[in-house]
Order: sequence, then structure tokens, then C-alpha cells
Amino acid sequence: MTTGRFAPSPTGPLHDGSLVAALASWLDARAHGGRWLVRVEDVDTPRCVPGADDAILRQLATCGLVPNAPPVWQSCRAALYQQALDRLAAAGRAYPCACSRKDIEAAQAERGLVRARGRERPYPGTCRPERGGPAGRPARAWRLHTGILEQKQPIAGVESTPPATQSIADDTVITWTDRRLGVQRQDVASSVGDFILKRADGLWAYQLAVVVDDAAQGITHVVRGEDLADNTPRQILLQRALGLPTPRYLHTPLVLAADGEKLSKQNGAQALDLTDPAATLRQAATRLGLAPEPDARGVPELLARWVPAWRALHP
Ligand code: GLU
Repeated sequence: MTTGRFAPSPTGPLHDGSLVAALASWLDARAHGGRWLVRVEDVDTPRCVPGADDAILRQLATCGLVPNAPPVWQSCRAALYQQALDRLAAAGRAYPCACSRKDIEAAQAERGLVRARGRERPYPGTCRPERGGPAGRPARAWRLHTGILEQKQPIAGVESTPPATQSIADDTVITWTDRRLGVQRQDVASSVGDFILKRADGLWAYQLAVVVDDAAQGITHVVRGEDLADNTPRQILLQRALGLPTPRYLHTPLVLAADGEKLSKQNGAQALDLTDPAATLRQAATRLGLAPEPDARGVPELLARWVPAWRALHP
């Protein structure tokens, strides 16, 4: 059974950009005779706005986008994330990290890791077990070990474990096919490095929560904004480390603000104008390459017409 989902972060009401992703994921599920779920991604609690979750669910309902099961909230699912982290740690794939941002920057500079075109530099691996771990410093964060175990490198003052030579990840180069963008490729170990699973402040990282929940909810088709495409290789790596299936992915075109930046709550995107829901939906549909269907009367008829049109575009 095809299962799709929309997974908004409740950092504010939906805007024109998030409606595109919501509509696309709903159409995709309907086009494939499947179920559509809503998951409120409220793990990053300091960024969440009280009441934004209810506002989003009301906005979706006004647009005729009603989930097939009650929504779930990530803030209620910590036990699942902890189980996954425990499994990764037991398998030697997750390790505790004591590095502050400052420590990381200093180690990156020392190892000559440069920032490429605004991208984060990879974590330099300071707390990797084979390099001595947190070495007595208090460690509250957890990272995924993304790659090849390094040869022992003596570090002054740090007792390290014997040299390890075997690989713990079969391959950190992830190749995947996006249903709209085509074949994509990323070497996670060299471009991102060992990424955070649980933050030092105790909050669960998006990457772990999304992978655990997509699997737990039986999601087969992920449809979301293109800004998230470069998270996909990390998520596939985590799925493999946890023995979970990889869903199919489709990343939708971004809606850009007047300044050319992605429309987001951070750059002050306006909440959806729902005085005329059909007009707002037509605008979102147009961005997905669907016809505005001017003679359709009302939201249900519009949605019904777009389902087969979507299936033709994205079989
Ligand atoms: N919660 C994420 C966001 O609102 C979306 C995550 C996803 O669809 O994987 O940007």
C-alpha cells in the first residue's frame, strides 16, 4: 500500500511554499491509490510556535487536504528515537561527542577542511572511537559514524584504541534517483561527515527522527520541497545502518521570495491567504506543472481533476 506524508515543522502557519509540498504529497498518495498522513515535526522545540500545529491542520483542511489517520507529533515519540540510537550505538555506528562548535572549528582549521560554496564543512571526527572518543570530556551529543574507520593517528595526550582497518559502512557514497530531479549522488562521509543524531541540549536531530518515523509509519513515497533534497543521502545512510527500507523520493520545486531566496517562515513568508482556497490551490498547482482548471467548481472538483494529471506527470 502506497503511503505518503506531509511533515510540517510548526514554526508558523503554512505559506505558499509549504502548500506546494503539501498538495504534491497529497496528490501523489491519491494518484497511487494510497494513504496520506500528516506528521508534526516538533522536535526542535525552541523553534516551535505554540498553536502553529493546529493552525497548519486547519489550513490543510480548508484546502481539502485531510489525512487518512490522526496526525502524530514527534515530541511524543522520543522512545522510538532512543531505541534507534541504542541500536546504532550497540552496532558501533553511533558514538558520543563532546565537541563544542568552537572545538569543531579549531579542528577543521587544523585539518585544512575548507568551506565549499556556503556548505558546512564535514565534522573532523575528533570524538570518533578510533581516535580516542571524547577522552574524558562530558559528552551529551551523539553522531553517526559515517565512514571508513581511520588508521590510528597518534594524537598528543590522547590514548587511542588499536588501529582499526575495516570499514563499518559498506559504502558512504549514496546514489539515489529522485522522481523529478533524476539521479543524485553524494559521498556523505566526505561532504557532511559524521552528523548529529542527538544534540548536546538533548533534542533529537531531524535526520534521525525523520528516518525512524518514515519507517514506523510505513511511508513508501516521500514528497517534499527541493531544499530538503540534500538531506536524502544522510537519511538513506541511516536507513541502511538501521536496516530500514528506503522510500521513493520526489522533491518539489521551491517557491522563491522576491529576493530570490527560498520562501520560508524565516524570511517572513506570509501565511497562506485562504479567503479563496481554490485560487490559492490553483497557484500551488501551477507551480507543480498542473493546469489551473478554471472551469472547475470548488476545491473538491479541482483536487479530483489534478489527481489523474499528477499520475500522468509522475507515474
Ligand atoms: N519538517 C520539515 C520541514 O518542515 C520537513 C521534513 C520532511 O519532509 O522530511 O521543513
